[in-house]
Amino acid sequence: MSASVRAALIAVGDELLSGSQSDTNSSYLARELEALGIAVLSIEIVGDDEPDIAAAVLRASARAELVLVGGGLGPTLDDVTRHGIAAAFGRELHEDAQALAALRAWFELRRVPMSDTNRRQALFPVGARILPNRAGTAPAFLLEHEGRAVAALPGPPRELRVVWAEELVPWLRARGWLGAPIDERRFFLFGIPESTFAERAGAWMAREAEPRMGCTVRDGTLTAVLRARANSPESLAALERRVAEFRARFSAEVYSEHEWDMEHALARELFARNVTISLAESCTGGLAQGLLTRVPGISRVFTQGFVTYADEAKRSALGVPSELLRAHGAVSREVAEAMALGAARVSGAELALAITGIAGPDGGTSERPVGLVWFASALRGRVQSVERRFPPSDRDSIRRWAARMALFLGWKRVCTAD
Ligand code: ATP
Ligand code: MG
Repeated sequence: MSASVRAALIAVGDELLSGSQSDTNSSYLARELEALGIAVLSIEIVGDDEPDIAAAVLRASARAELVLVGGGLGPTLDDVTRHGIAAAFGRELHEDAQALAALRAWFELRRVPMSDTNRRQALFPVGARILPNRAGTAPAFLLEHEGRAVAALPGPPRELRVVWAEELVPWLRARGWLGAPIDERRFFLFGIPESTFAERAGAWMAREAEPRMGCTVRDGTLTAVLRARANSPESLAALERRVAEFRARFSAEVYSEHEWDMEHALARELFARNVTISLAESCTGGLAQGLLTRVPGISRVFTQGFVTYADEAKRSALGVPSELLRAHGAVSREVAEAMALGAARVSGAELALAITGIAGPDGGTSERPVGLVWFASALRGRVQSVERRFPPSDRDSIRRWAARMALFLGWKRVCTAD
């Protein structure tokens, strides 16, 4: 039955084990398999070692019908994937005449002499089906054994993708191993710590919950994924119910059900309501404007922004009074509000957002620590402000988070129009 096919991935390479190269091939294959309705049970990394590869293949094929092994198909002596797979199933390696001829032709075409070590790439376990590799010299192969299939794919990511898409996917389809992808829904939330989210989500996050829910956090955005258990009418109905409940429970935090990028959520609202925007940034140095101007067509609502880093710039470009700066300091409610009002006045925009904070690593004090940021928004002359304390972290993270926080506050103000 197609829906029950499961996969295990093995990435081969000393460079992956030592951490000098990260295993992007497995991430790619896992995403692809998921989309094709094949569940991934495990991802393992092993070194360029024949017994290790053989053991990993046996472990993987004990659980999964489909085992994909990436890397180690090259011509050098440290490339031993073919030997490891052959050993796992007690098969010999033999030289394939057709593959050897194709290899010779490849080298002739490029006027490169073919060395003896290259002949290794024409070696395959007996009984293997050869999968041509249009993007490189190492042909891939697939071995079926007692209802299981083990495929060996080249390590270079470009070659792996070509062989996957051109050879393996058609084979899986013909074999009837592709299932229907399981329905899932995503929510992107901002400004809610993971622990608070978990508390408010309660039993929705339990392992046995229907639908299942998981979450990840990056740059202030929490991504919650709700996934049906199956494509049955009951599971899909349960998913729809939970989606409605989720929307109601987290309406203050969910800025999108489509994309992680905050700037698109804000731009959508600005476009829909015809609201023009300006930004005045200090510690983020233009990052928020940089994000916003990623959106195609943003010139319809954004004409001018400001990067006012020094006190003098806040004064001359935005008209922030010197007395305010002296009395409260640049990182204060008063200055943030004056920056927003100044940006709105000078640019003529209906909505103006301001950011002023301490990105560190130096410059923090006990009352104004690194990570303290004041945000202000002025919407048609009415100003609001809020202070946020980002947990001590590196300068880049604080700046990225602050830029996205400002866009989120802008999104909220436009949506609630208050
Ligand atoms: P060849 O030796 O012919 O290039 P190969 O199949 O032996 O092919 P490897 O030698 O293992 O492949 O790797 C080739 C390149 O691909 C290396 O730069 C390696 O770092 C990269 N690579 C291998 N496996 C992965 C992986 N899992 N994720 C990302 N890159 C990888
Ligand atoms: Mg390798």
